[in-house]
Amino acid sequence: MPETVSIHGLPTLAIVGRPNVGKSTLFNRLVGRRRAIVGDEPGITRDRIYGTTDWNGRYIRVVDTGGIIPDDKALIPAEIFRQAKVALEEADAIVMVVDSRTELAAPDMELTRLLLKMGKPLFLAVNKVDNVELEAAAENFRRLGIRNLVPISAEHGNGVAELLEEVLKVMPKSETSEPLDGDQMIEVSDDEEAPAQPGMAVPLETKIAIIGRPNVGKSTLLNQLTGTSRSIVSPIPGTTRDAVDEVVERDGQKFRFIDTAGIRRKGKTDLMAEKLSVVMARKHMEAADVSILVIDASEGVTALDANIAGYAHESGRSVIVVINKWDLVVAQAHKMREGAGTPEAERLERKSRSRMRGAMKSADQGEYERTVRENLKFLNYAPVIFTSALRGQKIDKIFETIERVAAERRKRVTTSEMNRFLEHIDFERASVPISKRVRIMYMTQTNVAPPTFVLFTDRDVKLHFAYERFLENQIRRAFGFEGTPIWIKVRPRRKKDEHR
Ligand code: GDP
Ligand code: GDP
Repeated sequence: MPETVSIHGLPTLAIVGRPNVGKSTLFNRLVGRRRAIVGDEPGITRDRIYGTTDWNGRYIRVVDTGGIIPDDKALIPAEIFRQAKVALEEADAIVMVVDSRTELAAPDMELTRLLLKMGKPLFLAVNKVDNVELEAAAENFRRLGIRNLVPISAEHGNGVAELLEEVLKVMPKSETSEPLDGDQMIEVSDDEEAPAQPGMAVPLETKIAIIGRPNVGKSTLLNQLTGTSRSIVSPIPGTTRDAVDEVVERDGQKFRFIDTAGIRRKGKTDLMAEKLSVVMARKHMEAADVSILVIDASEGVTALDANIAGYAHESGRSVIVVINKWDLVVAQAHKMREGAGTPEAERLERKSRSRMRGAMKSADQGEYERTVRENLKFLNYAPVIFTSALRGQKIDKIFETIERVAAERRKRVTTSEMNRFLEHIDFERASVPISKRVRIMYMTQTNVAPPTFVLFTDRDVKLHFAYERFLENQIRRAFGFEGTPIWIKVRPRRKKDEHR
């Protein structure tokens, strides 16, 4: 159920822009499910959806001006402006969204001109900046003459916190810091049966990539995950690829498995299958929030597993390690015990990788997990689940873990919590050479998915890896963040203004 919150008496931010630039995505990113449709009466254009968002304890109201206008590519800026006018007039600040992947064009200029004329604080969110290479493209949009420019990726969440921080600087403080119970508003129903409005805010769903080398059991696991609940196959809109996602609903939560056709596709030769598994893993992760890295328990962690795991870690996606085919290990351990000393038992023992031998022999999950973690050290934050996909074990547990990990990845620690945390950690324990020591003046979480922290330090030196690791461990101990990598950035204090 969406939360009911009042949308009155709060400072308001309006999101405006041409169709398809990512307004709804940004809106969803900001407000999640706390939203409402206004003007939902027959005959009235339902041209606005409202929601609230909070940042460091301050609440603002957000309006998606294009929220319910059908995506009509032909909409001219003046028309967009007219439709959004009511919302723009009552807004305290405006965010104009543009798509960094398109050329700057006359309509952008025209919309900018109309918006600037309103004389309200105006921000330019250059969207779809999904990676650093695209940050340069964002700079092109300076030509629009909007001073406050923030590159963002609404889809991945990058830059959204920075945008909010900038916006809050100009927002009036609201009288009520906390929204009250709502009135005069209609909640957006999460009911599947309700007809979807074009471009309307949709409930957030968790996107999942199942990755791993050939034959570890990805398809088998996928079948179990999608087979146990109502699953809808949905072609990815706007793509002509043969990619198909499958969406599963459980307890009102949506889980989208990315490109399931791709997961089921097999390479023609072993080598091709191996190469394909890496390519697919990288591609699927790009579209995902959480990746499930499947490992074949009867073979242990191989070089290719570690390679794929490395990409998962670097992608910033959350990771769950699933050790599959545990039934084989149990059977094997049984055989080895039964026939100890026989040639068959010896053959089995030789076959199991030496690193895993102990754990396999005893089929001891604790010991096995320790060995896996040793081989995949950088994934120390990833939960590990043992299963037999063939027998459909632990499917509930996998779903629960996905949900938990997806929530952790979006968690925000307030700056005041962060400061309290900093006061209590003893950096002396971080065994860093004196010459590399820095003092952290303060620290703030600037982003979620993955959680990103910016440290303001007294000196302009790169953070020593021991320091970084120590800090990351302390953050995890205090705040959790299970399953997700944590990114730490450093900004020397005096150069604070140089980052944009
Ligand atoms: P709106 O018409 O402005 O509300 O745009 P939508 O929010 O519906 O987004 C239009 C399309 O752009 C959708 O296919 C989104 O998935 C996509 N999109 C939105 N934000 C991003 C982003 O940050 N990166 C990428 N690559 N695509 C995005
Ligand atoms: P993919 O290439 O990663 O998609 O792997 P598949 O799902 O096609 O599985 C490869 C082989 O492993 C098939 O013969 C499956 O039946 C088998 N398999 C998958 N999961 C399990 C499991 O949990 N236990 C056992 N014993 N076999 C499994």
